[in-house]
Amino acid sequence: MIFTPEKYKIKDERMKPFIDVGEIEDYLKNTRPDRHRVIDVIQKSLDKNRLTMEETAVLVNTTDPELVEMIREGARELKKKVYGNRIVLFAPLYVGNKCTNNCTYCGFRAANKDAVRKTLTDDEIRSEIEALQDNGQKRLVLVYGEHPEYDADFIARNTELAYSIKKGNGEIRRVNINAAPLDIEGFRKVHQAGIGTYQIFQETYHPEAYKWYHKGGKKANYDWRLTAFDRAQEAGLDDVGMGALFGLYDWGFEVLAMVRHTNHLEACYDVGPHTISFPRITAASNYSRPEYMVSDEDFTKLIAILRLAVPYTGLILTAREPAHIRAEALSYGVSQIDGGTKLELGSYSSALNEEQDLNKEQFKINDDRSLNDVIDELLEKDFLPSFCTSCYRMGRTGEHFMEFSVPGFIKRFCTPNAILTLAEYLLDYAPNDTSHKGWTLIEKELKELDNPSFEQEVRDRIEKIKQGERDLYF
Ligand code: SAM
Ligand code: SF4
Repeated sequence: MIFTPEKYKIKDERMKPFIDVGEIEDYLKNTRPDRHRVIDVIQKSLDKNRLTMEETAVLVNTTDPELVEMIREGARELKKKVYGNRIVLFAPLYVGNKCTNNCTYCGFRAANKDAVRKTLTDDEIRSEIEALQDNGQKRLVLVYGEHPEYDADFIARNTELAYSIKKGNGEIRRVNINAAPLDIEGFRKVHQAGIGTYQIFQETYHPEAYKWYHKGGKKANYDWRLTAFDRAQEAGLDDVGMGALFGLYDWGFEVLAMVRHTNHLEACYDVGPHTISFPRITAASNYSRPEYMVSDEDFTKLIAILRLAVPYTGLILTAREPAHIRAEALSYGVSQIDGGTKLELGSYSSALNEEQDLNKEQFKINDDRSLNDVIDELLEKDFLPSFCTSCYRMGRTGEHFMEFSVPGFIKRFCTPNAILTLAEYLLDYAPNDTSHKGWTLIEKELKELDNPSFEQEVRDRIEKIKQGERDLYF
């Protein structure tokens, strides 16, 4: 399909499609990963510089096991050096699975007659959110199929409803969205409703492959999807999450294309993606397995490469992956994971979904542990679970970039806010065993703030939380 800016009321040249297949293929074909070059590229990232497409291709093309291990070690070092040990937790909430598209890999596609369709009513959304709050969740991603019913007004209303629900000490402090691309007016509406990040995954950045997987419906328009974040920017929404669905096409191509997409956003708007997601295909109802399935080895390698290539961005890894892959990915700098995830509509608030029924869900998840089990494991491994939403509410946009570039930012804001939100979780929701581990870690983290007067300030706030105050942040 030809992309016509006028048709979508797009103002200027910035919004033209920017992926050049030949350019990406050239880098993949002609870049040689000799030892010195690989070491230089890793060092460039460790010096806190974003990598070019050519440099990223050097890492993608590296196959010598010793050099691949250096890439992995580089990502581990960058993570330790820059981000420390916080992990942000969230849950997806599927609001509606009606869909007019036919993505071959997805259980919700229109042609899948076995799919059981449902859209949550306001009362059902309320029950789901109360159940999520009872588990301790504070951050949600609302997820939708693409359907005329799920327009910007609907998403905006759901968002406002989600923020308004408060059960006990529970509340939702950040609502992110994963839904079809909107027009400029639509992005403006959801921005005004107070959404956090708007996530849209390009699925595959290769236009021919894209055509093959997306034969019908609005999603068949590659360019409309590719330029969605430009329209979001135009609408004042600069908090966007990009992604590719790994398994649809060559993984190296997708990694380079995401770096290209990042270049585009930086060059045009001076702000890169807030987050990058790299979902890997899992089974779905009546789905046909795509050709480019990515092995665990390549998958964890590509995560390490993404960390090095775009070192300032949040990396999200979901429960599509089994616990052991998630654990490895955390060491390479994944910064956000979901916990207690359920995909069946309405299943957080009912006893449904002991076993996944793929006719009622988008795809198979491979980590179905409860939020507390995920938190417990993080604590065991000395990660600091966080429900922090402070930057976004204090207007400190681009927080990942600040964490990365402003000296002392993490100790001044991220760690104390993680501690305060963990303290709330431990007091309100955690069983004794987790609570014990959590308070031990909090003590350790407080000492490592290396600033006695600030440490006292954080301790004072913890005391207030113990007395019943909530939602204290820096
Ligand atoms: N329907 C909207 C869209 O397609 O943009 C919202 C997103 S969809 C509900 C969430 C994402 O799930 C898709 O963008 C796709 O990357 C991913 N997905 C679809 N089928 C999948 C599968 N079988 N395994 C893993 N992820 C899948
Ligand atoms: Fe619909 Fe999204 Fe699934 Fe495609 S990925 S069939 S658009 S829900």
